[in-house]
Amino acid sequence: MKRPVLFLGVILVVGVSYLLMQTRNLETPQEKVLEKPEEKPLEEIPVRKEEISEVRLTIVYDNNPSDDRLGTDWGFGCIVEVGDRNILFDTGADAETLLANMQTLSIDPQKINIIVLSHIHGDHVGGLFGVLERNSEVKVFLPSSFSQSFKDRVKSFGATVVEVSDPSPITKRVLTTGEMGTLIREQALIVETEKGLVVITGCAHPGVVNMVKKAKKITEQEVYLVMGGFHLSGASDSQLRDIVKDFRALGVQKVAPCHCSGDRCRELFKKEYGSGYIEAGVGKIFDL
Ligand SMILES: [Zn+2]
Ligand SMILES: [Zn+2]
Repeated sequence: MKRPVLFLGVILVVGVSYLLMQTRNLETPQEKVLEKPEEKPLEEIPVRKEEISEVRLTIVYDNNPSDDRLGTDWGFGCIVEVGDRNILFDTGADAETLLANMQTLSIDPQKINIIVLSHIHGDHVGGLFGVLERNSEVKVFLPSSFSQSFKDRVKSFGATVVEVSDPSPITKRVLTTGEMGTLIREQALIVETEKGLVVITGCAHPGVVNMVKKAKKITEQEVYLVMGGFHLSGASDSQLRDIVKDFRALGVQKVAPCHCSGDRCRELFKKEYGSGYIEAGVGKIFDL
């Protein structure tokens, strides 16, 4: 009886050892797979294309000249290209001028996906219906305080109306500050770029400094550029100097005041910001 027991014992020991070896063999490749990404230096991990997509801003409507080929007129309008989205922020006072400028700049109105209206004034919404006649496959983001008749007219073209009250996303990397101000309700556009935030204002009736502060607060990011109408043509020198100081304190790196900012405002910002000041007018392009 001794021999079969010994034999069984040997079989058992060999069997268990074999199983243990198999388990270890199984574990080894798994550990390697898990370790691999940790070993790889960060620089070698490829950045996805969508994360590095560029942002281009083109002013298509303004009362300040920049490109001789284009018409100037009181008002503001800007095309924002982010990834595969084309946004028209404000539409100027008249569709004819807007569309002619866009044509000269080879911007096809059919390729606009989103329209954002800053506030109800005619020099910002006047060109809208002419654009909708050519392309109604758009979402129109407007302050919810706009009149029902205006909203109904936008819908009558077949466009989608998106009413804005609070700060909210518009598309990837683009947000609105939400409606601000009391008398004239207005929203500003915020674009997240590799360099920092870009804040685009229509007229900045609620105060351009307030709008920049709001953009910073919502996103918790630094501001690279503030561009658009600052609504400071009637401001005194001391008021203007305070605003320039506020911009510095807020860490704004570059400024491009146009439309209703006023000549003196542009002068003082230019003096303070030097190379951080960008002369803006219709046709000006910002690649970010
Ligand atoms: Zn206005
Ligand atoms: Zn205006």
